[in-house]
Amino acid sequence: MSLLQETKLILQRYGIKPSRRLGQHFLINERVIEREIEHAELSGDDVVLEIGAGIGNLTKYLLSTGCKVVAIERDPLMVRVLKERFPGARLQIICGDATKVELPQFDKVVANLPFVISSAITFRLLKHEFKKAVLIYQKEFAQRLVAKPGTRAYSRVSVACYYFAEAKLLQRVPRGAFYPPPEVDAAMVELIPRRKRLPVDEEFFLRFLAALFPYKRKTLKRALVLAAKRLFGKGIKPVSIAGEGLLERRVFQLSPEELTQISEALRRWSTEGSE
Ligand code: SAM
Repeated sequence: MSLLQETKLILQRYGIKPSRRLGQHFLINERVIEREIEHAELSGDDVVLEIGAGIGNLTKYLLSTGCKVVAIERDPLMVRVLKERFPGARLQIICGDATKVELPQFDKVVANLPFVISSAITFRLLKHEFKKAVLIYQKEFAQRLVAKPGTRAYSRVSVACYYFAEAKLLQRVPRGAFYPPPEVDAAMVELIPRRKRLPVDEEFFLRFLAALFPYKRKTLKRALVLAAKRLFGKGIKPVSIAGEGLLERRVFQLSPEELTQISEALRRWSTEGSE
């Protein structure tokens, strides 16, 4: 029986109408699942976190590698399917919202994410210690995660992701790989947390990116004034933060390294209270 037939059978048996709001698009392409598992390089010792396990199409393959799976799933009906589909397996199920529940210890993350929580869950995961994540995202979000300075997709998410991890786009995943198919294509991304992060005050840097990137097409000179108003409720003399060479560049052309230096200069300026 193909995975598509199996999926339809499970949905019918449990009377499940996949919810768009919860992003219930189940993987039915065995080749895509196998590639995702291969990239994760799982061993029997690994504890793998799966976010949004659904009816268990990916879980089934994860369990077949011998690793322990901890699955987080928000929909209680899906949780019932998981329990009945894999009795006695090395599977721990947490029923709840993955952006809120307490996360267990894990070595790797393998998931076909519900697209609406992509950003929240990615940055939540990156604040934990683990070896590797292989995740399926909406294509546009995946492109933003891995985007390089100066490109269209380069955004706040690209810089924040670069700060926490090395991100690699592994392959496109066409919408036909899911049942029911979503309205957009997807892509598989690998994230490997950095052992050594750029030297910057993390909390301030993330707030600084949020304040600066709404102006990513403006020159740094103009964007800094607007970002300072958002952050501190007052303007700033940009020359007190960066040299003319940097100030004339557009925000989206600045590398993560340059942005950490600017962030540190702005943070020092704010604590010294100078104009
Ligand atoms: N892993 C399964 C697969 O690939 O076939 C299902 C993936 S489906 C794209 C996403 C799953 O995440 C759905 O089962 C949905 O109920 C669940 N979900 C949605 N929002 C969630 C949240 N905030 N926390 C945990 N699970 C969530």
